[in-house]
Amino acid sequence: MVAPLTLVPPPSARRRLTDRVKRLAAEAGLAVAAVTDAGPFVELEPVLLGHIAAGRVAGLDWFTPERASFSCAPRNLQPTARSILAVGVAYRVPDAGKPDDGVPRGRISRYARGADYHGLLKERMRALHARIEAEVGRPVEARFLVDTARIVDRAVAARAGLGWYGKHSCLIVPGHGSWVLLGELVLDLELEPDAPLERDCGRCVICLDKCPTGAIVGPYTVDAPRCLSFQTIEQRGAIPREIRPLLGDWVYGCDVCQEVCPYTGAAKEPADPAFAPRSLANAYPSLAWLLRMGEAEFRETYRGTPVLRAKRRGLARNAAVALGNVGMEADVPVLAEALAGHDEPLVRGHAAWALGRLGGREARPALERARRLDPDEGVRVEAEVALGEADS
Ligand code: SF4
Ligand code: SF4
Repeated sequence: MVAPLTLVPPPSARRRLTDRVKRLAAEAGLAVAAVTDAGPFVELEPVLLGHIAAGRVAGLDWFTPERASFSCAPRNLQPTARSILAVGVAYRVPDAGKPDDGVPRGRISRYARGADYHGLLKERMRALHARIEAEVGRPVEARFLVDTARIVDRAVAARAGLGWYGKHSCLIVPGHGSWVLLGELVLDLELEPDAPLERDCGRCVICLDKCPTGAIVGPYTVDAPRCLSFQTIEQRGAIPREIRPLLGDWVYGCDVCQEVCPYTGAAKEPADPAFAPRSLANAYPSLAWLLRMGEAEFRETYRGTPVLRAKRRGLARNAAVALGNVGMEADVPVLAEALAGHDEPLVRGHAAWALGRLGGREARPALERARRLDPDEGVRVEAEVALGEADS
């Protein structure tokens, strides 16, 4: 007997175009790509406004209620938008770990060790756009968005099924964990939307338990002012005293909640070679060197990487705190040198804190001198408090 024929309808033109666009994305160096429609993110708007009202994004001054509302409606950006292509590059590269060379070293977040992803992603997205135009044979109106408050990037990627929200509020992408940097192409093309992934963290709370500062105040909710990524990068002034001991050896960003996540541990290696550190100073810089580096040295070492965002003074400030956390009495002279002679009062003040924390015979005279003679009142106060702590 002849089996009845099962008729499978051929893929629609829209489906075929969508599949082709995804292949073009891979050819353009984008590790992942998925599609959602250009409709508004209605449910997200009150959530964002609630975070702002609760002070969870305090310090990110550009993230205003107006900006939050704007970012939830992609057609505010591009009235002709029909689809959004969520794309990403995977950045986990092999890591030999901190060398055991007796040098006190800081730690830079993995995404910031190699090329600055903003430029790299945009370059690849533009290349993809050119290929799409060649494919469809007409100009395609597009916006290219990378890490901008003009669109809710993780929400776009989640609705497109690129990944799902972890309780640390990063997007978890199958096969890559959260080691993916996201971008969005808003297009006037009608593409076939993908379905969101039906996955979640289940009962796991590892990242909530392991966050050094308790910044993950509840599932899916990070209190930015407590987060070390905020404090080491966006914070331009003093790091709050209660946060300083919790900073450990992080001098730019923090990866703890991602490192401990079981999904992240299963991420593929190696990823994009563009994210490999150029030198040890791009991953595990010497803390003494960070405290002594000049502007030209800073610019040369971190040229083309996200670390420039922290500025030399911010990185040296973080190095002082990290040395106070992981250093020993032998590190007192370099902190005393920074307290006496660093050109930035912000760095001298944090060096005073670190000296108070390490204590020892040489710390006290350096602090006494700064308390009396430093030209900056803030540094004199830091030295005064540090002397009290060195006594206790
Ligand atoms: S980046 Fe670090 S400080 Fe921020 S939430 Fe994650 S573990 Fe906590
Ligand atoms: S550590 Fe656990 S709770 Fe946190 S994001 Fe990963 S799976 Fe979710």
